[in-house]
Amino acid sequence: MKDRMNQLVEQLNQYADAYYRLDRPVVSDAEYDKLYRELVELETAHPDLVLPNSPSHRVGGKILDGFSKYQHQYPLYSLQDAFSFEELEAFNRRVRKEFPHATYICELKIDGLSISLTYEAGRLVVGATRGDGSIGENITENLKRVQDIPLTLPEALDITVRGECYMPKASFDRVNQIRQEAGEVEFANPRNAAAGTLRQLDTRIVAKRGLATFLYQEASPTEADSQSHVLDKLTRLGFVTNQDYHLADSIEEVWQFIEDLAGRREALPYEIDGVVIKVNNLAIQEELGFTVKAPRWAIAYKFPAEEKEAEIVSVDWTVGRTGVVTPTANLTPVQLAGTTVSRATLHNVDYIAEKDIRLHDTVIVYKAGDIIPAVLSVVAAKRKQQEPMDIPTACPSCGSSLLHYEDEVALRCINPLCPAQLKSKLEHFASRDAMNIAGLGSSIVEKLFSANLVQDVADIYRLSVEDLLTLEGFKEKSATKLYQAIQASKENSAERLLFGLGIRHVGSKASKILLETFRTIPRLAEASLEEIAALDGVGTVIAQSLTTYFSSEGAKTLVAELEASGVTLAYLGQVAAADALLAGMTIVLTGKLERLKRSEAKAKLESLGANVAGSVSKKTDLVVAGSDAGSKLAKAQELGIEVRDEAWLESL
Ligand code: NAD
Repeated sequence: MKDRMNQLVEQLNQYADAYYRLDRPVVSDAEYDKLYRELVELETAHPDLVLPNSPSHRVGGKILDGFSKYQHQYPLYSLQDAFSFEELEAFNRRVRKEFPHATYICELKIDGLSISLTYEAGRLVVGATRGDGSIGENITENLKRVQDIPLTLPEALDITVRGECYMPKASFDRVNQIRQEAGEVEFANPRNAAAGTLRQLDTRIVAKRGLATFLYQEASPTEADSQSHVLDKLTRLGFVTNQDYHLADSIEEVWQFIEDLAGRREALPYEIDGVVIKVNNLAIQEELGFTVKAPRWAIAYKFPAEEKEAEIVSVDWTVGRTGVVTPTANLTPVQLAGTTVSRATLHNVDYIAEKDIRLHDTVIVYKAGDIIPAVLSVVAAKRKQQEPMDIPTACPSCGSSLLHYEDEVALRCINPLCPAQLKSKLEHFASRDAMNIAGLGSSIVEKLFSANLVQDVADIYRLSVEDLLTLEGFKEKSATKLYQAIQASKENSAERLLFGLGIRHVGSKASKILLETFRTIPRLAEASLEEIAALDGVGTVIAQSLTTYFSSEGAKTLVAELEASGVTLAYLGQVAAADALLAGMTIVLTGKLERLKRSEAKAKLESLGANVAGSVSKKTDLVVAGSDAGSKLAKAQELGIEVRDEAWLESL
């Protein structure tokens, strides 16, 4: 007994550390919850054997190095959990014994991480994680980058509020797609993605990841009398609250809400892992109070785990647009979250090695919301004598040797003419955020390739209606429609083309920033690494990738061919007139300006047609230097570049 309890405490603490501190769970939540329950049952039966480091007595996990600690003025708690209607009934009996007329509020249990926001005189002064409930990490700068968190309130209040910071499903899919293409480890689920993002030391990354919040608690003393009024107040103060809540008079009504919710859970744009049921009246909440770990006035109902066991029958290796080779397991079919699942991602070679996944293993498959099912772990006890999995050494599409870079988790095919890559490149080129060619989806791309009508993206502009008519299933009307969609895409502003080229790390947002500055693709292609890297929101990784791309012969030929076909290579967004005062000039701002903000100065120069660059080079036409200008001014003088001051800027 004692040994088992020791073992459980040790194991659970290890799992919790991986989950809370490293954001990389090593077992599923269901597995953790099962072991946790076993421990609590043993502890209830043998209270004298409870270990001081038992997770049943502590909230959350240890805090990370890298952030300063923050002592919470009001502690944060965990929640007791329930997995069945009977457990909710037991909770109801405990509450109603003392307060027969208590009613409940059911709130969605958002699967993110708790945050605490403290405002003084209406200004956000501290944002922190829960940590162990009394000491959290100070992540104020990161939370300021989360779009929907108000930095100031409409009233000059001193207030501490609590809520959940989460990653919407759409952001999660996008972030993981980017990580997969970059050969990085994907996040296991939106919760880990949100937690990992908020623990970033680089706030710019936080800004890019599209996090969101729902606030639900006023931790400092409140004049509100019920939880629903707290939500109203938070909404009034400008916080985002989740309006998908339900007031219930009885526990049966609570259950009804849970059952309804289960049916529409998949359609929600964010992940939930259950429903939090709280006594609505705050005076009753106060009377009921807390255990060491959780409030007595609330309980979290958790949905049954969306994971099952299945056997890996075979593994497919497919090549994506950037050459990353992804393994997918074919499984014995299982019912999961209402759908039949027979395929699951194995992520990458490193994941297979780390989890030691082998062909014919019985594995745990899980699915969360809209996310592709994944293999979580191997059921070691069910392994028959199996050899480690065969990892391909040659590309499954073109046969060239695959590479496994040291800093990457994925295998890559680097043959630029690999047909699988060319096909997915073309699909990406035609996709909505790129050239937006309606009707050019994967099945048509496949047909165009099989008929040898296209080999790369430039070929699609050489297609005639007659060519398209040779494809199976095409009639005059459909061929003309696709032809017209292709022709119309020539008129797109060039940031779509840049994104469509599928250059590693260059997303649609970066494409726009790049073309707003460089105006045309040929000018961008000539820009130096420093000039590109100096742009706000770009950085060296993108700059490196772009310069490498544009220095290749293949890219030069492709751009020339696209231009010859009449594809627009210029940015058509707001561009200053060609006869604008500073049209075509590259100007660098340096030093401290006294009267204008840096952003205002930049906007002014751009509105007059200048391209404002971040570093001085031979291509710089002029430098505007404020006070305390340093190395950029020195470089300008060294290169003999004209230097002007702030007064000149104002006189324009
Ligand atoms: P919890 O998930 O049991 O519930 C408490 C949390 O719910 C709060 O801190 C809050 O952040 C959140 N919440 C979301 N919506 C809410 C709402 N409307 N009102 C109030 N709170 C709301 O939290 P916990 O104590 O952090 O974690 C325990 C759970 O974490 C376990 O049951 C397990 O599922 C998981 N876990 C998993 C592992 C693993 O290795 N897989 C390890 C440790 C913990």
